Amino acid sequence: MSTPPFARRTSHLGLSRPSIGAAEIDELLDAIRSGWLTTGPKVATLEQRLAAYLGVEHVRCLASCTAGLSLALRVGGIEPGDEVLLPAMTFVSCANAVVHLGATPVLVDSDRETGHMDLDHALSRVGPRTRALMPVHLAGHPVDMDRLNAFRDRHGLFVVEDAAHAIGARWGGHAVGAHGNLTAFSFHATKNMTTFEGGALVVGDVDTAARVQRLALHGLSRSAWSRHGSASPALYEVDEPGFKYAMHDISAAVGIHQLRRLDGWIERRRQLADAYDERLAALPLELPPRPPAHSRHAHHLYMVRLGHDAPIDRDAVLVRLMQANIGASVHFKPVHWYRYYAGLTGLRPGDLPVADDLARRSLSLPLFPSMSEADLDDVSAVLHAALA
Ligand SMILES: *Cc1c(COP(=O)(O)O)cnc(C)c1O
Repeated sequence: MSTPPFARRTSHLGLSRPSIGAAEIDELLDAIRSGWLTTGPKVATLEQRLAAYLGVEHVRCLASCTAGLSLALRVGGIEPGDEVLLPAMTFVSCANAVVHLGATPVLVDSDRETGHMDLDHALSRVGPRTRALMPVHLAGHPVDMDRLNAFRDRHGLFVVEDAAHAIGARWGGHAVGAHGNLTAFSFHATKNMTTFEGGALVVGDVDTAARVQRLALHGLSRSAWSRHGSASPALYEVDEPGFKYAMHDISAAVGIHQLRRLDGWIERRRQLADAYDERLAALPLELPPRPPAHSRHAHHLYMVRLGHDAPIDRDAVLVRLMQANIGASVHFKPVHWYRYYAGLTGLRPGDLPVADDLARRSLSLPLFPSMSEADLDDVSAVLHAALA
């Protein structure tokens, strides 16, 4: 193999890296020293701060975004035999959440420009059993919420937004999460803010918020924290069986400070995305689309697509980056490319032509707030050597 015309980095440049500062660590130690490790006061604080940040009334913190998607479908009333429309181009946990309720995921093709769920194709997939729609704010690029909610209302569906990539994104002057739908966020270690593992679900009313909280803790009508210090004995009930989906205070301690820093990080991510756009403009790449001026991209991922005229294919580019000690990734392997879902849906590669095409040509480049211009130059040099 010929020697590549760029230096291999001595240190690995990963796709993402969390920023955990002294404030996070101090608060985390405070949680540990307080003796209250599980769901308690720091979770309550993070829920209040998230509600204020998003401009919504009711947020419940959970063990993951996946837990949020599952509970959202459940409180939305999804039952066995129901159909849920979701984009093929998403993380497989969306489809798993539907299947675990005995419902059927109906996969929708991608919009060629944004990579979002194509609502024209979704229209052709609506049937008498269609109950819900699960759009994904892919890469942090906000979905057009005006069109989405109009589609929802026209067909009498309810919407569960997968905002795993989109904490901090905005559409039409409102945060993603504040457009009247159940919305799930992820605070997994690779996302725009982290609680190590964790997530949050926005719900519309106080009764649903209480139900989500119960379902996240075995179905118990009172949490351990609300019983703590109370004089009454254990007067709690189970009206429906729940799960073990609660966030703990150790995680929330970190999240409280991550949230304070989030807007600054998104601004840094935007600068890096702009710098990538400049460096890569001359290459046979399709650069990430930008949303309209009234909105805000959360810049979770910097996803490019190889042009049809590129001299080598996407996987060869990934290998070149790996050889240079640079991590890159693919978002996503479409749901119907997994064996289980190919079997369940009967879809084959080619049946959702846009998603299939984007899946073969997309790659996500390193992007995180502590990334330097020199890191970015290293990525750019590899791509220039591979593609120019
Ligand atoms: C990360 C991710 C999830 C799952 O988030 P968890 O918090 O790990 O459950 C769901 N959907 C998308 C689009 C994701 O990227």
